[in-house]
Amino acid sequence: MPFIDGKTMLEHAYNNQYGVGAFSAHNAETILAILEAAEEEQSPVMIQIGQKVIQTLGLKPMKEMVDSFAESFTVPISIHLDHSRQFEQTMNAIQLGFQSVMFDGSALSFEENTLITRRVVAAARALGIGTEGEIGKIGGTEDDITVDEKDALITTTQEAVDFVNETDVDYLAVSIGTAHGIYKETPNLRFERLEEISKAVQRPVVLHGGSDVPDEQVQRAIKLGISKINVDTELRQAFTRGVHAHYASHPDDIVLADSLGAGRKEMKEKVKEKIHVFGSQEKALDLLKGKKVVTL
Ligand SMILES: [Zn+2]
Repeated sequence: MPFIDGKTMLEHAYNNQYGVGAFSAHNAETILAILEAAEEEQSPVMIQIGQKVIQTLGLKPMKEMVDSFAESFTVPISIHLDHSRQFEQTMNAIQLGFQSVMFDGSALSFEENTLITRRVVAAARALGIGTEGEIGKIGGTEDDITVDEKDALITTTQEAVDFVNETDVDYLAVSIGTAHGIYKETPNLRFERLEEISKAVQRPVVLHGGSDVPDEQVQRAIKLGISKINVDTELRQAFTRGVHAHYASHPDDIVLADSLGAGRKEMKEKVKEKIHVFGSQEKALDLLKGKKVVTL
């Protein structure tokens, strides 16, 4: 179970022009769906622990569950805290040994966002943990927090540069036309802005709201500097589809291992499909070669 810090993982992707999928886990079956898909594809992978599952199952149990399952896998894994809006929670994840944390101060003023992100970076860096920050608001609903799409401002190059200069965050989430959740119409990523930001900040950029963005757009974005793509909605849809199909054919079944197992199988296929879109298949060994590997 080679755990790798998020910075090392994403810099490898950045330097080799592929994307790492940051897939959200919600329970034991979804953790296994992600790990099995990554193993079969020999792909590095980020497992995201988001705010919803922290509310329902808890930060520590989720982290420990991933740790425990990861013992049987060989691909590089990075456990990532997604969209933390509290400094204390972010510190808690660092204390628990996450390999990557996101402090999302995008709802705060620029000054507050940079101040707290800078503190997170200082603590995480001292322990070899990767950090993600966000500048500009990403639209849609995630974990019960809704950003009106009209308010989903496209990140300006200047604010991205200022934010990076002030915080030295390892990877940067920007708003370039994606939204969380399901799209009402096909999104159009702002490639010119992405290219400009990417050239200016010279570090991996993160695409949130990666579900249902056309594959060609994601691949073009990866060429322009996107190294981490967050995927949640499409995986939950796949999982739910599997569970529904199971009950459609076995309406009276009460064996949860079977119904949830059907969800896990569907989700695993979706993760594999995404790994191929992002081009991270067969990258595990190269990433592990000569890299600092943290083993529990
Ligand atoms: Zn997000």
